[in-house]
Amino acid sequence: MITRFAPSPTGPLHLGHAYSALLAFDMATQNNGTFLLRIEDIDQSRARPEWEAQIFYDLHWLGLHWPTPAMRQSDRLPAYSAALDHLWQHGLIYPCTCARRDIHDAISAPQEGVPTIGPDGLIYPGTCRPPHQHATHAPRPDAVLRLNMARAIQAIDAPLEFSETGLHCDHITFAANDVITKIGDSVLARRAMGTSYHLSVVLDDAAQGITHIVRGQDLYETTTIHVILQRLLGLPTPSYHHHKLIRDENGRRLAKRDDARALSKYRAEGAGPNDIRRMVGL
Ligand code: GLU
Ligand code: ZN
Repeated sequence: MITRFAPSPTGPLHLGHAYSALLAFDMATQNNGTFLLRIEDIDQSRARPEWEAQIFYDLHWLGLHWPTPAMRQSDRLPAYSAALDHLWQHGLIYPCTCARRDIHDAISAPQEGVPTIGPDGLIYPGTCRPPHQHATHAPRPDAVLRLNMARAIQAIDAPLEFSETGLHCDHITFAANDVITKIGDSVLARRAMGTSYHLSVVLDDAAQGITHIVRGQDLYETTTIHVILQRLLGLPTPSYHHHKLIRDENGRRLAKRDDARALSKYRAEGAGPNDIRRMVGL
C-alpha cells in the first residue's frame, strides 16, 4: 500500500491538514506500506519556499516520515506537457479564451433542470468548443486548455468506477451522460501554469504508484474527473478514502487563512503531537 499527503505550500498547515496527513500515514504504517509526500506547487504565484519549509517541519514534528526527496510538482512540467500533447493529438482538448465574465454571461439564463455549478464552479457552456474535428492551430499562450468531455466519454470504453473506503464506503459507478452535464469541459491547463490541479494530481499519483488516496471530502466530486483522466491516459485507478473535514466551533471548514488553528500556533502554546491527534479525533 502506498498513500500520500499532497499539500500546497501556500499557507500554514492547520488541524485539517494534520488530520489528513496522519490518516494517510497511519493507514500506510498499519498495512506495512509507504507514506509519500508531494509538494503541490504548480501555482507559482502563491507557492513560497518558506511555507514548504514549514510543511516539512510541521510534519516531522507530528512524527511523520517519508522517503526523500519529496516529489515537487514544479519539477514535473515535462510530464504534464507530454500528457497534454497526447490529449491534443487525440482531439480531446481545445483552447478556450473565455474570461470568467463571458462564462457567467453565457449561462445567465440557465435552462430549468440543467445544472450550472460543478466541481470546478460554473459549468463551461462550450463557447470555444470546436464543433467537428479538433482545432489544428496551436493554442494561444493566453488560452486555457479544456477537456472535450463528450469526446472523452466516447473515447473511453472501460467502466467509469472507483472504490471508496471513506465516508461513502462503496463501489462508485457513474454514467457518461451525467459527467457531460454535471461536470462539463474541465480545464486541464491554466494560463501561465502549463497544467491544472486535475491533470497534475492524476499524473503524479500514478508516477508515485499511489494505491490508496486519502484526502478531504471536499475533493470527492473531483474524483469523477480524475477517473476519466486515468482512463484517457491509460493510468490505474487507485482506491479512494475521502475523510470528514475538520471544522471550527461554528461548523465552518478550516481554510489556509485560519492561522488561528495553524499547527505552529498549537506548538507555540505547548501542545504536542498527541494533543493534535486527540483534537482531530485520532
Ligand atoms: N493539493 C491539494 C490540497 O492542498 C490536495 C490534492 C489531493 O489530495 O488530491 O488541497
Ligand atoms: Zn471559451
